[in-house]
Amino acid sequence: MSYTITLIPGDGIGPEITAAMRRVVDATGVKIEWETVEAGADVIEKFGTPLPESVLESIRRNKVAIKGPITTPIGSGFRSVNVALRKELNLYACLRPTFTIPGVKTRFSDIDLVIVRENTEDLYAGIERMVDDDTAESVKLITRGASKRVAKFAFEYARTEGRGKVTAVTKANIMKFSDGLFLEATRAVAADYSAIEYEERLIDNMCMQLVMKPELYDVIVTENLYGDILSDLCAGLVGGLGVAPGANIGDGVAVFEPVHGSAPKYAGLNKVNPTAQILSAQLMLKYLGETDAANMLLKATRAVIAAGTTVTYDLGGSAGTAEMADAIIDQFE
Ligand code: NAD
Repeated sequence: MSYTITLIPGDGIGPEITAAMRRVVDATGVKIEWETVEAGADVIEKFGTPLPESVLESIRRNKVAIKGPITTPIGSGFRSVNVALRKELNLYACLRPTFTIPGVKTRFSDIDLVIVRENTEDLYAGIERMVDDDTAESVKLITRGASKRVAKFAFEYARTEGRGKVTAVTKANIMKFSDGLFLEATRAVAADYSAIEYEERLIDNMCMQLVMKPELYDVIVTENLYGDILSDLCAGLVGGLGVAPGANIGDGVAVFEPVHGSAPKYAGLNKVNPTAQILSAQLMLKYLGETDAANMLLKATRAVIAAGTTVTYDLGGSAGTAEMADAIIDQFE
């Protein structure tokens, strides 16, 4: 079986980590034709937009894409390409596994949880305006349909992955309408999955719980903004953004990407950790049904991190991005 996959290298550290990832994936033996397309600030001059239609067309045609991070200007400038991509392709569920990897320095040893983040609405819907010169307004849009859809995804994921518990996270005590609706929709879905334990937490309490006893959590389903923040918090629990992979999944289409951003200050230095990008590819291989290659890749990455001799600065080593990828490839049988 061979695949054509859309590859968006991104900007900042994106090109170097996606190049490393591509070499590692090719070395697994899975036959992939990479269709490379560009998005982000650098293409605005050529296409008049940071997200050219040709990028969306490529992903729609190939059904699977993997991307590096893309910079979003802060406060002003164009809207996030990453958010636009998720909305345009209706990639409604963002899947972010968090697990401890032996060899990565953290205070925890047994974290194995997955964040399922609603990916298309909430405060990320982009409905905001200046009411007058001194007043700004952002609309928090929550619909029953999108809430049910992501809750169903979370429970189905729990069922197929043999996970026992789903925790819904909101601030429904304060935002009774929007978060209240998300919770109501999630409860309705939970009722169809009696074999899976269901519980609820408020976002503030959840932050404390995750820092104090993360091992208690399994699958977490939440809204867009809370999911964004919890993802970085969880990455911090298991060793930082350098090891946190992710996937954006819709009906029949998926875009894989690390949790981290473009880390511009490290761009072009061959310094950052390629693991988050490589493990995003591992999720992609699993999604494609290439289970053996996915398992081999995970095992090899774990082995390199456990050995600790060829790892990047964030894991306490001095290896470069490319060298760490080479070490992972060397582990393949
Ligand atoms: P960031 O994730 O880019 O970096 C924050 C810090 O995390 C870095 O300075 C570095 O210390 C560490 N880090 C990140 N990736 C690492 C890696 N692979 N290895 C080792 N350390 C790593 O966050 P930021 O600085 O807040 O954002 C930079 C830009 O990225 C912004 O424009 C933001 O909008 C964008 N961004 C894009 C995406 C995406 O493409 N999906 C996601 C998040 C942020």
